[in-house]
Amino acid sequence: MDLDNEYNNGISFDKICPKCGVGNPDEADNCIVCDKDLEETMLFFEDEFYDIELTNDSFIEYRKNFYKTRRTGKVKIFNIDKMEKIRFGHPITRFTFNYNGKKEVYALKAENYRSLKYLMINIGKFEE
Ligand SMILES: [Zn+2]
Repeated sequence: MDLDNEYNNGISFDKICPKCGVGNPDEADNCIVCDKDLEETMLFFEDEFYDIELTNDSFIEYRKNFYKTRRTGKVKIFNIDKMEKIRFGHPITRFTFNYNGKKEVYALKAENYRSLKYLMINIGKFEE
């Protein structure tokens, strides 16, 4: 039995806050714990080495520990407008871009890779 579900009286807390990781009710506009504006998140996914959030203007990496069990607290924020040479590797699902002259590399699970690629095409940052 899922303890979380026992206490929330049937309200779904499926909307994970990208910033603090707490589950929020679907209708929440702001995180119930850290007050982050949940409406600004365009995409959020949990991957092995990091969780990734995209807002209207930022690509945000929440680094995880070596054992992939929890976040380290290290956060990297990239301004999407300044991301250059965006590439999606194939057949290896790797996302790369240049930022301030430095190459950034993200190895992603296939489903996350697809979601990110779809979003990047949608916002005009990448063409197939
Ligand atoms: Zn939060």
